[in-house]
Amino acid sequence: MANHLTGLVTGANQGIGLEVCRQLKAQGYDVILTSRDERAGRAAAKEIGVDYRRLDVTSAADIAALAAEKLQLDLLVNNAGISMDGFNDNVVKTTLAINFLGALAVTEGLLPSIRDGGTIVFVSSGMGELHPYSPAIRARFSDPKLTRDQLVALVDEFIAGVHANRHTQEGWPSSAYRVSKAALVALAKVLARDLAPRGIRVNAVCPGWVKTRMGGRSAPRSVEQGARSVVWAATLQDATTGGFYRDGKPATW
Ligand code: NAP
Repeated sequence: MANHLTGLVTGANQGIGLEVCRQLKAQGYDVILTSRDERAGRAAAKEIGVDYRRLDVTSAADIAALAAEKLQLDLLVNNAGISMDGFNDNVVKTTLAINFLGALAVTEGLLPSIRDGGTIVFVSSGMGELHPYSPAIRARFSDPKLTRDQLVALVDEFIAGVHANRHTQEGWPSSAYRVSKAALVALAKVLARDLAPRGIRVNAVCPGWVKTRMGGRSAPRSVEQGARSVVWAATLQDATTGGFYRDGKPATW
C-alpha cells in the first residue's frame, strides 16, 4: 500500500525522528533522513539503511540546496526541535527560530517538491495547548481565517513582548517552547486550508512524553511509542487534515 512512497524527516539523527525513519522504512517508504549534524546523520542513516541529506532547518542555504534537487516527496515530517533551559530573549528567539520558523521555512521551501495528494506532519506537543494564553490570544491562534502572515506576526508579538518585559500582561506564558508548539498546531491548520486544492494533508501531532535526550529518562513512553503517534499521521490514507492528534485521536488544543 505504502510501497515506494518517499518521505523526508527533519532532525532525525536521534530520538523520535530517527525512530520515525525506521518505522517508515519498515512500512516500505523510501526515507530521506536529514540532520544538521552531518556526521551523526550519515551514521544514523547508514545504520538503518536510508538516504541522507544535511538540513539545518534554520539554514536558508540547506533548504535551497534540497529544493534545487526537485525531489518528489510524498511526505514531509517536521520533527526537528529544541527545548532550552531558562527564559530570556536568546532562548525565545532561538527556540522560535528552530521549532516554528524553521519548520515553516522547510515546508515552504520544499512545497514544490511535495506531490499533490501528499502529507505534511508537524511534531508539536501537549505543551502546544492553548490554555495558558489570554482569551484574546487564544482566539487569534485558533481563528479559522488566520493567515500564515498573521501567524508569523503573532509569534513576533510574543518575541517583542518578552524583549519589552510585557508578555505576561499581554497574555502570554513565560515559555518559548509552549509558544513554538502552539504555533505549529496553528500552522498545520493554516496550511491544511491553503493546500487543500492540491490534496495535501497537513496535521500536527503530539508524541507524548518520550524517553529521548529532550524527554529525559523519567519519561513514561518509549521512543517507539512516541514515533508511532507521528507515523500514524504520516501514513494516513484518508483525507484527515488540519487536526492535532496524539496516538491517532484528536488531542486537546
Ligand atoms: P531529541 O532527541 O533532542 O531530538 C531532537 C532532534 O532535533 C535532534 O536530532 C536535533 O539535532 C534536531 N535539531 C535541533 N535543532 C535542529 C536544527 N536547527 N536543524 C535540524 N535539526 C535540529 O528530541 P526528541 O524528543 O526526539 O524530539 C523530537 C520532536 O518531538 C521535537 O520537535 C520535540 O519538541 C517533540 N516532542 C518531544 C517530546 C518528548 O517527550 N521527547 C514531547 C513532545 C514533543 P542535534 O542532534 O544536532 O541536536
